[in-house]
Amino acid sequence: MSLNNGTVSETARGGRAVAPTAKIPFPKRKVPRERALAELARLEEAYPDAVTALEYDSPWTLLVAVILSAQTTDARVNMTTPHLFAAYPTPAALAAAPLEDVERIIKSTGFFHMKAKSITSAARAVAERYGGEVPREREQLEALPGVGRKTASVVLSVAFGDAALAVDTHVFRVAHRLGLTLGKTPREVEDDVVKLVPKDKVRFAHHWLILHGRAICKAPVPLCFRCPVNDLCPTAPIVERTLRARAHEKAKPARAKARKKAKKPSRAPGRKR
Ligand code: SF4
Repeated sequence: MSLNNGTVSETARGGRAVAPTAKIPFPKRKVPRERALAELARLEEAYPDAVTALEYDSPWTLLVAVILSAQTTDARVNMTTPHLFAAYPTPAALAAAPLEDVERIIKSTGFFHMKAKSITSAARAVAERYGGEVPREREQLEALPGVGRKTASVVLSVAFGDAALAVDTHVFRVAHRLGLTLGKTPREVEDDVVKLVPKDKVRFAHHWLILHGRAICKAPVPLCFRCPVNDLCPTAPIVERTLRARAHEKAKPARAKARKKAKKPSRAPGRKR
């Protein structure tokens, strides 16, 4: 999972062109608790029907979809899983599937060798250890092949309604930009954000942050001018400064050329004698 803090890479606010390498630094301090709560309340208001975009009909199909979603889009996973579950409807069936068949079906999701191993191994563990039912304890979930804390949190919160917060690259970035955390690891970010959110809303907070990260607070160029949290966010002025500095840098050669031209003595056209 990439956890960089984003780079400015395209024409941004006001149509100003920005160099592709300008990093937007995260704020160095957390915002006060009251302000953090106000930011989260705005996001909740902005994304009231926050749900996962992954299509699933059971904890098992969700677990597989989440494993497949690494490094690809939810839409791509949703195109793949119907074929996979039509061919192998249960964990036992998937556990017994030839690896190359599974790889062929899931190929378009990328990293398909590794993902095929993960889902068939997880299928075997779910079939053998838990009678085909996905366990609902974090410890047992994280003991399944291919399942880390983030995947377990998605399953716990989405399939079982538990107060779990999955921290992916969007959640990590947006939480930092909003000044909710200074955490260096997903676990530190998770702990900081969970402390701010009432227990019954923790499972939704992941969606507020992820949807905001995808739609507006994008990694390369956050669209601050469209953001409902703009007036509270400590990164908004940083973005403004970064874009201004980059636009200034980009315009340097043109300014130097103009200065050089202005310094050249203009020659009066010679007269014929
Ligand atoms: S103001 Fe900008 S940086 Fe802050 S949350 Fe909104 S889009 Fe992200």
